[in-house]
Amino acid sequence: MFSSIKRIIDKWLNIGFEEEFENDLNQKHVVNFSYMMFCLSSLLMVVVFSLREISSVAIFSLIGLLIGLVGLRCNFIGHFSRAQLLMPVLKISQVSILSLFYFGTNSGFHWLFVNVIAYSFVVFRADQRFVKFWMVCASIALFLLCELLDTRGLYLTSFDQGVVVIFVFLALSFNFAMVINLVMNRLKSVNRHLRTLAEMDELTGLSNRRKVLADAVNIFADSVINRDSCVFAIVDLDHFKKINDTFGHEAGDLVLAKVSAMMASVIRPQDEIGRYGGEEFIVIMPSTSLKQAEMIMESMRQAVENMLIETEHGIVIPVTVSIGVACIASSVTRYEEILAQADKGLYVAKRNGRNRVSVQSDYQN
Ligand code: GH3
Ligand code: MG
Ligand code: MG
Repeated sequence: MFSSIKRIIDKWLNIGFEEEFENDLNQKHVVNFSYMMFCLSSLLMVVVFSLREISSVAIFSLIGLLIGLVGLRCNFIGHFSRAQLLMPVLKISQVSILSLFYFGTNSGFHWLFVNVIAYSFVVFRADQRFVKFWMVCASIALFLLCELLDTRGLYLTSFDQGVVVIFVFLALSFNFAMVINLVMNRLKSVNRHLRTLAEMDELTGLSNRRKVLADAVNIFADSVINRDSCVFAIVDLDHFKKINDTFGHEAGDLVLAKVSAMMASVIRPQDEIGRYGGEEFIVIMPSTSLKQAEMIMESMRQAVENMLIETEHGIVIPVTVSIGVACIASSVTRYEEILAQADKGLYVAKRNGRNRVSVQSDYQN
């Protein structure tokens, strides 16, 4: 129930915004949320005061509602700075007029200025500090004015004023909880996104060198602790320089991306693959015997050999890979030693004519 409400709110807050990691999306969400809350509370007042036949407050709230809807639309259609500025102006006007002339300061309605101050701090960026400063100053000044003037409500009984105090308290708490929640969720998703960017190779979409070597350390440590078999492989594209020279660097990039996707589709879910550098890749196969690993790598080699990669002119680029494979032996204490063994295997595969898998079996258990 709670999660479906949250999903609906998220959906509403995202209307009109397509780019998930835009710089000021956080602020846009808060502006959206503020308008929605404003429109909702204005609508509530229109209904309540219409029923009580206090037309002046009802009409005043209706005008507020209409301006709020205009601001909301501005934010949706991309006039963000306009919407961003209109909100506090609207809110300051509404709170001061209602507090001073309609509800009386005993209602505590002017405490909603706290909302405007919080809004200004969250929504205005560092380069908008001038606007932020004036919004905060105006809110504080008007708040103090309301506190000092002590006006009586024209339309509210003292019971009504008590109700408004509770309403203001609930509205403030809800607003703060929502804004904190929004900002935290956004920070979390941006953090996740940055982490993915930091760990991913842009061209191939595979893990980059840093990530795959970090995986290598962890998987190696786990395998040593659990006395488990673990195999490392190094894959290198054959005569890749020639591909670049013959078909151009762009075609070379295309080959790298396509071969990477194919290799990622051949390995099992528990295996890791990453770009080691240039046209070299590392595959880590935990809890795998050397024989199994050799079979997986052989199917990878065949899959790449059978690929049909075409240039934009329709010319098929022939691609093959050479693969060196090695596994953990009891004498190995650092993962770099297995990598060095796999590299030796790769050297042998290249020397024996390329397009083949070579297992370094002197480390076989
Ligand atoms: P071998 O079969 O012995 O591995 O020969 P090779 O030509 O594949 O190896 P070499 O190390 O001589 O050349 C690798 C080439 O890969 C050189 C470099 O320009 C190219 N290369 C490295 N990274 C990229 C890249 O991101 N895009 C493209 N298009 N080329 C790259
Ligand atoms: Mg190569
Ligand atoms: Mg190479």
